[in-house]
Amino acid sequence: PPAAPRSHPQGGAQGAAVGGHDLDGAGQLGGQRAIEEATLRQAHVGQQVAVAGGLAERAVRYARARRRQADRLSRLARQDQLTGLANRTLFHSRLAAALTATEPVAVLLMDLDDFKTINDTHGHDVGDEVLRAVAGCLKDMTRYHDVVARLGGEEFGVVMPDTELDDGYLFGERLRPCIAATPFFAGERHGALEVTASVGVAALEFPDDTPELILRRADQALYCVKRDGRNRVADAA
Ligand code: GH3
Ligand code: MG
Ligand code: MG
Repeated sequence: PPAAPRSHPQGGAQGAAVGGHDLDGAGQLGGQRAIEEATLRQAHVGQQVAVAGGLAERAVRYARARRRQADRLSRLARQDQLTGLANRTLFHSRLAAALTATEPVAVLLMDLDDFKTINDTHGHDVGDEVLRAVAGCLKDMTRYHDVVARLGGEEFGVVMPDTELDDGYLFGERLRPCIAATPFFAGERHGALEVTASVGVAALEFPDDTPELILRRADQALYCVKRDGRNRVADAA
């Protein structure tokens, strides 16, 4: 605490200073009161500072929680919950962004073959396990700047920046055996599952190409593979 006033030159008739020293009782009393008041004032200020500090801390905590929540929501809006891959929304926006560059862009659509049978035979949980394993395979096989997405159900997509149609096709051909070789265990009773995929590939070709037009061509190529017997890659050439 700060030093209390030690002298009261105007201390009143009875509290007059003697020889500059304030020794009488009234002066001491006044000094004590001043100390008490100063101490009280200080305690009050201390309390206010503590309250303000507590409020500031709570405000910071609240802001952080809001930020985490916003991050989580924006992640949920862009991410597929089962596999952690990008979802269809993010896939579309990244494809649109890739088309603004001057480099070539290839797009691959992949649909697992007879997936309904896997679900029906082994159960939905095993089906989910297969979807996660396929997602892992796609992640392993792609480059950092490729965009890998689960577009829904058992359909996946890859945006490959800086890739021509031919190379996109070759990537699909490398992908197919990788999917087929991925061990999908459906519990000890079932052993490994055989999973195959059909793939359609398209690329940026025309100056006025849009994401929708390129995806439509990839989808048509995929449709041809399904129609002709599955487990193959086709490009939209
Ligand atoms: P095709 O070779 O013609 O593609 O046949 P398919 O059986 O793969 O295709 P179909 O469209 O008939 O069936 C897709 C199945 O995917 C049906 C649906 O129950 C299943 N499915 C969709 N989403 C999920 C999911 O999140 N988890 C699981 N386990 N199954 C899913
Ligand atoms: Mg399918
Ligand atoms: Mg499908």
